[in-house]
Amino acid sequence: MQTSTRDPDSSPLALERRLLFSYLAAFATVFFVAAVAVRFSFVAIIDQQTAARLQDVARAGLRSVLFTNEALAIDENEISNKSLLTRDQGLQWFDRNGRLLGAEGLTPAVKGPVFEASQQLATGRQTFNSVTMPILNPRTHQRVGTIRAIELNAQERADIRYLDTGLFIGTLIAVFGSSVGGLALARTAVRPVERSFQTLREFTTDASHELRGPLAAIATSADAALRDSGRDPTRDRSRFEAIADGAKQMSRITNDLLLLAGAERSLERELFVVDLVVTLNKLEKTYAPRFSEAGIELTVAGDRAAIVYGNPDQIERIIANLLQNALRYTAAGGRVSVESRRDGAVILVAVRDSGIGIAPEYLERIFDRFWRADPVRSPGGSGLGLAIARALARRHGGDVTVTSRYGLGSTFVASFPVRPPLASIGKRA
Ligand code: ADP
Repeated sequence: MQTSTRDPDSSPLALERRLLFSYLAAFATVFFVAAVAVRFSFVAIIDQQTAARLQDVARAGLRSVLFTNEALAIDENEISNKSLLTRDQGLQWFDRNGRLLGAEGLTPAVKGPVFEASQQLATGRQTFNSVTMPILNPRTHQRVGTIRAIELNAQERADIRYLDTGLFIGTLIAVFGSSVGGLALARTAVRPVERSFQTLREFTTDASHELRGPLAAIATSADAALRDSGRDPTRDRSRFEAIADGAKQMSRITNDLLLLAGAERSLERELFVVDLVVTLNKLEKTYAPRFSEAGIELTVAGDRAAIVYGNPDQIERIIANLLQNALRYTAAGGRVSVESRRDGAVILVAVRDSGIGIAPEYLERIFDRFWRADPVRSPGGSGLGLAIARALARRHGGDVTVTSRYGLGSTFVASFPVRPPLASIGKRA
């Protein structure tokens, strides 16, 4: 029975869509706020300039005011000087009661009181900006009237309309551009997640597949042993052996998987001095009997001292995995050599065999988790050996590479930096 508990919201496509909407929302907000800020500043600047202009006009209009005793009059000669005003500007003089004493240029009939400030006036469909100033008696310094400078604000409104249109179109273009950019960004961000999803899915399938074999063997043998227990002690024994084998295989696979998972961790706390020559001698002692039993000649040679830094068990494990493969894939009568030498800033350990070799199309696949060229020819192997060797070597700032001639033999080279750069340790997987 198969059940699916995958949350559709966590799929890479849904993630891409969510990312895109977030980018868009963020960009649109930024553009909108920027557009509003630009508009407000623009309108404030225009208002300021208009007020300054009208104040100048009003101040100039004060020159037409004549004072006779306490009375106020407007000098008609002076106000006829129209060069002072543009076509859409005007001046109005009022006495202290708000009665119009004289007018010049554009003078709309605006009703209502005359305020002493900047304000907007409206007559019918037209609107005006205006600035009023008090007319003071130069002797008494008392306010005797008011002068008002007026300007039609059609141009200002047209400018603001242009600005609004420009900002609106600009925001639309920017939002469109950012959606294209956002889509590309979301794709780039999601691609590694998608790959991890795919790898995780494949990995889970492969791991379950590998564990299913020993589990089935354990279950069948246990069932059989339970069914006719005690009747045939020899058969019982072989069933318990099968159970023990299955359990061992599962434990080996789970240990390997844990080791692989740990290969992502930083090596910082595991930096020990490791002499590769000592490691090779130890491995030679362990493996020599198995090689001679298989009828394969094993030679180990190396520099006098080959010091690297890292986790000694893991460094040993890398070379042991290569040796095990050389043993597994070389027929009786073959030769296997292990050699270490320094090459610049790295120490290379080459495991060369005269075994079955690897077809060129499989050369990179052999490092994939659970991958086996021919499961029948690698009994006991789970396809994790090389994946572990490469992951651990990379954890140490090195690598495992291969060259092979199909049918003639293979050479696996593990490299270890003499001084692993701490920054890169544990970063490559
Ligand atoms: P396994 O447990 O199957 O050996 P590995 O990851 O160690 O898993 O190796 C993956 C595959 O690479 C093997 O199944 C085998 O096909 C191939 N391989 C590894 N080492 C050698 C070798 N020295 N010679 C030929 N083929 C090899």
